[in-house]
Amino acid sequence: MRNQKSEIITLSRRPFGDRDRLITALGKYTGRMSLLAKGAQKPGSRLAGMSEPFVYAKVMIAAPKNISVIASADVLESFSGMKASLEGVDAAYHISRLAERISQPGQPSEGLFLNLLSCLYILESGADPETVTRYFELRLCAWAGCPVNHTRCACGRPLKEAFWSREAGFFTCRACAGSGDGLVFPAALFSYVRALEKCPENRVRFLSFPSEALADLKALFSEHMLYHLELRQPASFLEAPEK
Ligand SMILES: [Zn+2]
Repeated sequence: MRNQKSEIITLSRRPFGDRDRLITALGKYTGRMSLLAKGAQKPGSRLAGMSEPFVYAKVMIAAPKNISVIASADVLESFSGMKASLEGVDAAYHISRLAERISQPGQPSEGLFLNLLSCLYILESGADPETVTRYFELRLCAWAGCPVNHTRCACGRPLKEAFWSREAGFFTCRACAGSGDGLVFPAALFSYVRALEKCPENRVRFLSFPSEALADLKALFSEHMLYHLELRQPASFLEAPEK
């Protein structure tokens, strides 16, 4: 049995028996993966650190039976700066959950992998976690083939108002909106979507949006991802559970 090399980002982990951990990871080319980290629960284990969530690593994988086992691992980045902030960890948790839910085992995943990796590095650079989360979501929608329209309605008319139709799953012009159910945003929202789209990765930490704009972007991407990708926004672990 040949070993297989892979670049991965760890997404989550759980105990497996008394000594091992089962990791869910996103592979650069191999989609979502379940990997067994033997002995990772033991203090001082060489796989303890790399099997924590949000670690970028190069691994050698052996598959002796029908389970993939990590034979060796090289941690490339553990994002320790980001992990010093609760908001940073919350954002990493949020975008990793989305990546975990949309990815499939064996599915080509390079674009998703690079989006997640870039956003973890942007969080590490000290960018606003909420802005990075929206940046990830915008690029996730584009990667999945359903970018948010913000210039024209499907009928060809330019968009002057920001009415997002729940029936169409897109922004529509007034004529196409009819009496349908939807969300009405300030027209300035389009300029924030454009700013996210045009922003190079190394400039995201300089973006500064008003809190209302960030709330509107969150509402927009929540609807858009639910409609097109059946993805729900993960609950934040910073918010108290609803009673
Ligand atoms: Zn229209």
